[in-house]
Amino acid sequence: MYNLLVANRGEIACRIMRTARLLGLRTTAVYSEADQNAMHVRMADQAFCLGPAPALQSYLNVPALIQAIRDSGADAVHPGYGFLSENAEFAEAVMAAGATWVGPSPEAIRIMGSKIEAKRRVVTAGTPIVPGYVGDDQSDSTLTAEALRIGFPLLIKASAGGGGKGMRVVASAEAFADALAGARREARNAFNDDRVLLEKYLTAPKHIEVQILADTHGNIVHLFERDCSVQRRHQKVIEEAPAPTVDTALRARLGAAAVAAARSVDYVGAGTVEFIAEDGEFYFMEMNTRLQVEHPVTEAITGLDLVEWQLRVAAGERLGFSQDDLKPQGHAVEVRVYAENPARRFLPSTGTLLRAEFPDNVRVDTGVATGDRVTTHYDPMIAKIIAHGRSRQEAVGRLRAALMQTRLCGLQHNVGYLIRALGAPDFASGHYTTGFADANHEALVVMDELPFLMAAAHVVSKGNEREDPWCSSDGFIPNLEDTVDVHLAVGEKRYALRLRGEIDCDGVRHAVNTLAADASTADFYLGGKRILAHVQREGVLLHVMTGGETLVVRDLGRDIDRFVVTGGGTGGIKAPLPGQVLELRVKVGDKVHAGDVLLIIEAMKMEHTIRAPADGQVQELHCAVGGRVEEGAALVTLA
Ligand code: ADP
Repeated sequence: MYNLLVANRGEIACRIMRTARLLGLRTTAVYSEADQNAMHVRMADQAFCLGPAPALQSYLNVPALIQAIRDSGADAVHPGYGFLSENAEFAEAVMAAGATWVGPSPEAIRIMGSKIEAKRRVVTAGTPIVPGYVGDDQSDSTLTAEALRIGFPLLIKASAGGGGKGMRVVASAEAFADALAGARREARNAFNDDRVLLEKYLTAPKHIEVQILADTHGNIVHLFERDCSVQRRHQKVIEEAPAPTVDTALRARLGAAAVAAARSVDYVGAGTVEFIAEDGEFYFMEMNTRLQVEHPVTEAITGLDLVEWQLRVAAGERLGFSQDDLKPQGHAVEVRVYAENPARRFLPSTGTLLRAEFPDNVRVDTGVATGDRVTTHYDPMIAKIIAHGRSRQEAVGRLRAALMQTRLCGLQHNVGYLIRALGAPDFASGHYTTGFADANHEALVVMDELPFLMAAAHVVSKGNEREDPWCSSDGFIPNLEDTVDVHLAVGEKRYALRLRGEIDCDGVRHAVNTLAADASTADFYLGGKRILAHVQREGVLLHVMTGGETLVVRDLGRDIDRFVVTGGGTGGIKAPLPGQVLELRVKVGDKVHAGDVLLIIEAMKMEHTIRAPADGQVQELHCAVGGRVEEGAALVTLA
């Protein structure tokens, strides 16, 4: 093995190449047109374009990948996770092209890829499964009869499922028919396979999974368990190893069950057996026949590099250790940093990372850097941050501290959510279940805006370098000893702040002790709490970052509604920031009064209202609804 093609992108492609390089392998990247300058491409020794941005035409494009294997001379292929990593036909095509497949046999992938087949198989090895129905008879009448036998609540799952798709919790018999139709529809669309299985729905379970590693000589070990019960919408966001509620005896039983399940399909390589656990019992859910996103926590407590072992096993090496050689060392916790808005049902967010700064005292696996774009084409994960400690408390403490030093802006992210989740009492106790995120939702999405406003006020009062033409230099005195008025907005909410030693925000006085402030940072005490904030300017927008969180604050300047440039030949009202025209409230010929709304621009997911600076008549419109406008572009000419 000397040239490894990584059939993936983002953090996992980078992570695999890092180990490949340590082992002295050449690395080949593949990429879509949208990823031409992505980090994984920048890291590789050679790179081949697969096609346009949509995954179906690039990262899922098997003919293009096989061509890349041929063109690159790669003699091994690592699929990462997601994309084609659990696609048996792709594994076969790789082997047919003469390259080594870094993963289990296509047969093992096929069996474990079907939740129905997988359960039937592992039962033969004595692995416990969730009570339910995994039969071939998929008729409505049989499924309904089985549902009544199992009882409610129950769960309908797509046999080909993944990522929570095709899954329905059914509370009662009356709701079963509709839920079945919905699950089948979703499964057909997502997987082109509408077979379903039924499971008893456990109401307060933990998701516990076991990492296993097997060589081609019949040796299989388990690398202990991970607790991945912190999930939002059935997707993991925090994972830890070992599981805080699993004792030595249970660990041994879980490990034995996982090894037996793996052995039942002659498993080779790294894989994960997922269990759902409740009241000291555990049941097989499925096996993922690939590397998992959360593998770093297992690496941290075992000291093993799982990608290294995947490659060694693929090259035919024996595992150099047995189960008895393995002991968990300390505790590790991982969080997944996503581009999303937790407060709006975790809606994915897109945009350019104006800043991406990660702490350097913990492990950070990422595939993006400052200036990179996060698009809708692929998974919105920005990074994984992993901390290891001698105890759980130490690992969690380190991770929280590291997250608080993370600075991301240009899109919405969940770092604040993660910090609060790690600090929640349910999490600290270790007794959290898969209901944790829902039960704590309100507390996990609240954000105190005051420190951000205070930081913005400092920076604005110090900032003489404002380039914005509509905010002419208007005599701010860059010294907190004097009185300075600052007008800010967060979304549609406006704030008037007066700095005079203390800070008065909308009439409420706050004790502020400023240690240092300049045009891009502010360091101060607010009511006894130290706030160190970094501010990234983008036109009138201030991306204020402190404690890991980001709030976009608008600097309204002095003349808060009147974004007007006077005397220019192109004339009229200009865009205060780059964005998209959401609404146009006027047409040519309309008479308007000072203060009337002319149009609304959306930028950074916020609406900005542009008003008439004076009475007049609309002479010309330079923009259209839906159109993009650049900063400073003419919008409307008033006569
Ligand atoms: P997918 O393959 O779509 O990710 P899984 O079978 O892995 O689906 O289940 C995803 C998550 O759904 C689990 O981690 C768990 O939180 C929840 N879940 C699955 N099965 C059950 C069950 N029988 N009872 C309660 N929750 C379940």
